[in-house]
Amino acid sequence: MKCSVCGKKIETTFLNKLVGTMMKDKKGKKKAVCSQCQKKHTTTELKEKL
Ligand SMILES: [Zn+2]
Repeated sequence: MKCSVCGKKIETTFLNKLVGTMMKDKKGKKKAVCSQCQKKHTTTELKEKL
């Protein structure tokens, strides 16, 4: 799965869990966000980028 903000591939753990987070965009669609973008931006900022 790719990060919706930076477009980089998001790694998964051995349990197939994303190293990052899932967020809903304005339309309610689920988008993946990598941990680096999560650290860089606030939740509000990320929602605006999705
Ligand atoms: Zn990212």
